[in-house]
Amino acid sequence: MRTFSYVGAPDVAGAVRAIAEEPNAKFLGGDTNLVDLMRERIEQPDTVVDISGLPLDEVEELPGGGVRIGATVKNSRLAADPLIRRRYPMLSQAILKGASAQLRNMATVGGNLVQRTKCPYFYDSAAACNKREPGAGCDAIGGFHRAHGILGVSQDCIATHPSDMCVALSAPDATVEVESVRGTRRIPLPEFHQLPGSTPHIETTLAADELITAVELPEAPVAVHSRYRKVRDRSSYAFALVSAAVALEVTGGKVTDVRLALGGVSAKPWRAHAAERALLGAPATEDSFRLAAETELEPATGLPGNAFKITLAQRTIVATLRDLLTDGSVA
Ligand code: SF4
Repeated sequence: MRTFSYVGAPDVAGAVRAIAEEPNAKFLGGDTNLVDLMRERIEQPDTVVDISGLPLDEVEELPGGGVRIGATVKNSRLAADPLIRRRYPMLSQAILKGASAQLRNMATVGGNLVQRTKCPYFYDSAAACNKREPGAGCDAIGGFHRAHGILGVSQDCIATHPSDMCVALSAPDATVEVESVRGTRRIPLPEFHQLPGSTPHIETTLAADELITAVELPEAPVAVHSRYRKVRDRSSYAFALVSAAVALEVTGGKVTDVRLALGGVSAKPWRAHAAERALLGAPATEDSFRLAAETELEPATGLPGNAFKITLAQRTIVATLRDLLTDGSVA
């Protein structure tokens, strides 16, 4: 690892000032991704600005019924928060299905949003990777790509976003609040992560000098009846092959509200709007669930090693909706 300077940020204003003064600087939060990337020489900042001591570690109820989550709230604390468990159970479940207990005790909400892909070629300096080195090529496409994406992929990159938490934040349409020397900006989560296109090295709309300060969840009564299902090769400490965060409301046998997002299939949490449109007003039956899942996966493209994910994603959507319908939490 090459040498770098360390700056402890005293407050939010000091943190954004410090990053604005140093063009090749990075924020250091929970220490669970940036340090790994520095060891592999993928990230080589001249300065790290430590934000772990900033007063951004509260989970607060908002006047309109939503919830504001500070950027340095640890994943384990968020999963255990009574407000989150009651109003957005899919978020608590998603966090507890991610990483390990030790990592969840260190990892922060802000860091989870900007964590980078786990594509093995990205971490292998001998491999061609457009995300690590623009224009180099993509060894995953002709190589081992069992865990790679099937939605929103490009000929330059098929990597997936590794987060479980972000999938569950995406379903109820969270907003990310960021701060810089220019002021405060609010970014709807669907606009935060970027699809790869021809620039897979650009992963978010966050500017280099912007600090994530909070994530806000809007009031969403439907989210009380929600669930996160994760399909993976091992029962713990494994990334999703496919996951689904689903919230469902049924009245008189018909779907009256639904939120659906997929993980493990794209470079961003995949908001399943096509499935939602197909479900809204439809009878809450297995046939409707299957039709909605097929509609959502219609634009999916698979390679020899990961085409199985198309069917797997459809089945995961149907199974999660069925679970919600039969577990007694949905009327
Ligand atoms: Fe790199 Fe993306 Fe290809 Fe993986 S899938 S090797 S991250 S360009």
